[in-house]
Amino acid sequence: MPALSAPLEAAATRLIDQGEAIDRDLAERLVLVGDDDLPELIALAHRVRLHWMGPAVEVESIVSAKTGGCPEDCTFCSQSARYQTDVTRQALLSTERLVELARHTRELGGTEFCIVVAVRGPNRHLLDQVCAAARAIRAAVDIEVDASLGLLADGQAELLAAAGIHRYNHNLEAGLRFFPTICSTHTFQDRQATCRRVIAAGMELCSGGIFGMGETWSDRLDLAFALQELGAREIPCNFLDPRPGTPLGGEAPLRPLDALRCTALMRLVNPRAVIRYAGGRELVLRDLQAYGMLAGANGLIVGNYLTTLGRSAELDLAMLADLGMPVAAAPLTGSRGRRAVTAAIPAPPPGHPAAATPPSPPG
Ligand code: SF4
Repeated sequence: MPALSAPLEAAATRLIDQGEAIDRDLAERLVLVGDDDLPELIALAHRVRLHWMGPAVEVESIVSAKTGGCPEDCTFCSQSARYQTDVTRQALLSTERLVELARHTRELGGTEFCIVVAVRGPNRHLLDQVCAAARAIRAAVDIEVDASLGLLADGQAELLAAAGIHRYNHNLEAGLRFFPTICSTHTFQDRQATCRRVIAAGMELCSGGIFGMGETWSDRLDLAFALQELGAREIPCNFLDPRPGTPLGGEAPLRPLDALRCTALMRLVNPRAVIRYAGGRELVLRDLQAYGMLAGANGLIVGNYLTTLGRSAELDLAMLADLGMPVAAAPLTGSRGRRAVTAAIPAPPPGHPAAATPPSPPG
């Protein structure tokens, strides 16, 4: 086996032998690893993922519980009321419908169900409705309930925690330097403050970003290290799917190899987090989606995204079966963590070639 290049070897020593995360200086050297050595970077990210998080994959569904009409001006977002997009506004879904969708997610093997609402931040009425829905889901379905309701004011995170919300999603979206180029109606620091409120209230923080908005590699590392500093337990990796009508509607999609490099770097900077593929993976990774699961990712959003269609959940479960990756039977973070994970490799759907042969145990 050829020797690893110096930065890869240094990263392996830090992350696997010494059990420590890498620092900014080393991350900047890893960014410079050429495409020819990218498979080694990816292989290291996969080893680090197995070492710190185990082989299981966390499966989650998100539901756009209230769509469109957001007053903010995030330039990537088709739910902003400021842009002419194809998004149809939709009022908050009923509690009954949310329970039904959570049950469907559980039937697919999902352990997290996230209620997403397009607002700058919740008012008291909306907060009460989401808390009531969370309680109803927890009473009816064996699944963790997450929420994403925008910026939180003082005291709001505590109400959500009391309703049993497990993780709160609030993406930083981009690094500090780049953020003002994608949003002018709130600041990076506003988003950081909400993330800190989430943690102070005792919920797990889910926070990630979007790659492919015109940011540099240095901006991507800014984001990765900002998430490390916050202690995000789950990091959604979105890739820009340029939405017609938004200011970023004409942006070219990210190169698949760069998307893999983003995934691997996010893992190496945040070894203990669930790195979850979210929106845009079908568009950007295309045939490399399975390779992405070998690049450090250990989470998937299955089914549709907020305003775009994902591929079928059955295809994703078949991909995990082919990879020999078990679906986590419980969240990979928190006290139940890795020990509670069973090796339940998903059953391939009928007709899938793998259905004929029993899966081998993960290596
Ligand atoms: S705050 Fe959220 S929903 Fe509103 S425009 Fe920004 S990303 Fe879209």
